[in-house]
Amino acid sequence: MNNRLYGNLIFELSHAGRRGYSLPESEFADYALPTNLCRETDAALPECDEMTVVRHYTNHSANNFGVNNGFYPLGSCTMKYNPVINEDMAALPSFQNLHPSQPESTCQGALRLMYELQHSLAELTGLSDFTLNPFAGAHGELTGLMIIRAYHQRNGQPQRTKVIVPDSAHGTNPASAAVCGLDVIEVKSTAEGIVDVEDLKGLLDDTIAAVMMTNPNTLGLFETQIPEIAQLVHASGALLYYDGANLNPLLGKCRPGDMGFDVMHINLHKTFSTPHGGGGPGSGPVGVRAGMEDLLPTCVVKADDAYTVKRNEGISVGSNLGNFAVMVRAYTYILSLGRENLKMVGPLATLNANYIKESLKDVYELPIDTLCKHEFVFDGLKDKSTGVTTMDVAKRLLDYGYHAPTIYFPLLFHESLMIEPTENESIDTIDSFIDVMRKIAEEAKTDPETVKSAPHNTPIGRVDDVLAAKQPVLTYFHVER
Ligand SMILES: *Cc1c(COP(=O)(O)O)cnc(C)c1O
Repeated sequence: MNNRLYGNLIFELSHAGRRGYSLPESEFADYALPTNLCRETDAALPECDEMTVVRHYTNHSANNFGVNNGFYPLGSCTMKYNPVINEDMAALPSFQNLHPSQPESTCQGALRLMYELQHSLAELTGLSDFTLNPFAGAHGELTGLMIIRAYHQRNGQPQRTKVIVPDSAHGTNPASAAVCGLDVIEVKSTAEGIVDVEDLKGLLDDTIAAVMMTNPNTLGLFETQIPEIAQLVHASGALLYYDGANLNPLLGKCRPGDMGFDVMHINLHKTFSTPHGGGGPGSGPVGVRAGMEDLLPTCVVKADDAYTVKRNEGISVGSNLGNFAVMVRAYTYILSLGRENLKMVGPLATLNANYIKESLKDVYELPIDTLCKHEFVFDGLKDKSTGVTTMDVAKRLLDYGYHAPTIYFPLLFHESLMIEPTENESIDTIDSFIDVMRKIAEEAKTDPETVKSAPHNTPIGRVDDVLAAKQPVLTYFHVER
């Protein structure tokens, strides 16, 4: 791309007086805005012709990488394909033009969709009811913990102010607990990578509000001790919270509610499609078991033949009803797959992950060598003598046209490289990825400098990520040419 013509910033293409529009003569020429509302000097806005603007943004959009461009094995994120029909449904004018404040009687279709989505999620998870209000997974965690707190307060147990979180947990778990005003206690993992039940036993007492678990956990491993854990947690008077961000491999196969979980969140933007690279949009519905429904924030309920919004004076987690367009996509996804095909999601995601793991474990370090679910973690290259790190491998993958896996998470290993292929990928895509991963392992031995200085084929080369984190430059300075 010719950067001089298309520009890094639209401001660099500006020429005083250039216009991309022509407006008719104003009919209100004699109307003067009150001077206290007017600027003293003109805003520094770019002045460009229309063709320049269109090319500038079109060329920038071509630098984006998404699931629709290529393989995106970003572990923990479930970057699954967002079927085009989802976008068609979310863009229906009758959905798109809704206003959050319009009377319920004029948006019965939208409320019905939300009601049916709440009930589909309840059926898929074995819980009693859901709120669709939270705007992300982390927001769902916070909502769930607020519900758990209110539950204990109602039961005369306000001293339950601590949450037990596994050392393998996603960082949002302890963060949500802290935001909710709860103290975090860590429970250890066993050498096999699952929660250490003996350690947990010693931590449970009448100050514990909840134990948060992810299953399969962030190492992609199925927590086999859930029945015993649920029994111990409930016997101690605490509740069991399910971080449902990893629901994908269980979808339609087994249900957190049946395993003994009391409260959970789902990431609609992971398990139920929706493009969510770059931070949004999201939706983190929260479900509860029977007997706790009245603690849920805003829900849609059916009264006689009408759908209506039930609000909760005690727990409110956002104005209006949530991220409606994400709900439309999730509902479309559930209906278009249907009950039988939803059951294929987990096994195919699991097959793809295990196939990659087994095909690469002779060249990448596999710290826990066992059957995984939808994702798994390598601890860098097997041959540590080359000096090539997980960061280098991730950068080199960009040169070959792949999005990098998640790196340096989970924190249990020094060189974590976390791969989640999802169920969508064909054997050809997966085989090509395996070939490239093997090629990089080979390059690490024969030509380590090329790997360590990657990427070489991207618009921006290797950035100084420490400097970027410590001294971020977030403003635009106009450079005179
Ligand atoms: C993604 C994720 C979250 C957080 O979800 P957000 O929507 O990003 O806030 C929590 N837990 C796990 C295990 C996750 O993978």
